[in-house]
Amino acid sequence: MYFGGIEAGGTKFVCAVADENQQIVEKVSIPTTTPEETLAKVFQFFDAYPLKAMGIGAGVVLNGEIFQGIAHPEMGHIYVKRHPQDTYEGTCPYHKDCLEGLAAGPSLEARTGIKGQELPEDHPVWDIQAFYIAQALMNYALTLAPEKIILGGGVMNQEHLLQKIRQQFLQQMAGYMETPAPEEYIVRWGLPNESGIIGSLLLAEAAEKE
Ligand SMILES: [Zn+2]
Repeated sequence: MYFGGIEAGGTKFVCAVADENQQIVEKVSIPTTTPEETLAKVFQFFDAYPLKAMGIGAGVVLNGEIFQGIAHPEMGHIYVKRHPQDTYEGTCPYHKDCLEGLAAGPSLEARTGIKGQELPEDHPVWDIQAFYIAQALMNYALTLAPEKIILGGGVMNQEHLLQKIRQQFLQQMAGYMETPAPEEYIVRWGLPNESGIIGSLLLAEAAEKE
């Protein structure tokens, strides 16, 4: 198993992957530019490794810099309203049924016994997951009024899930706050099909610089 870590800053993002003995296997330094561009490179880097999806990470880019308060925000651990058909207790070791506990990768397999990437598109668990993620995005939109919400991670490679999240977002927001069209407002980081090769290229580039 590999572990991924990010040190995020206004000038650069240092991303590293370590093995079980906490030995760094690979490390890159990505210049901080626009949120879309920077995060795309971060996701591409981590996509090159079989990282176990453990949680939900979320951050805020404010005036081109990563927002920091007393620590970095932990927006994955917010509480969400329970889906009426969901009885799953949640996986978060701290809060059980916070967003991460209810909607992170491992919750899909825990509910269904099927790995997330092998779940069919019409499985009802996707509606439950979209319900929770959309709720979190609505909370972020209401709290921060961001210009754009960018989603990444392995689960977001499921195009149908992104569509469901956008629909749920509109439904749950219920017209209260005006946001750009969901196709433009809630987006996935770019180049999903080429991420593997681009990740490899980034690694090669980083290796050469050392
Ligand atoms: Zn939690």
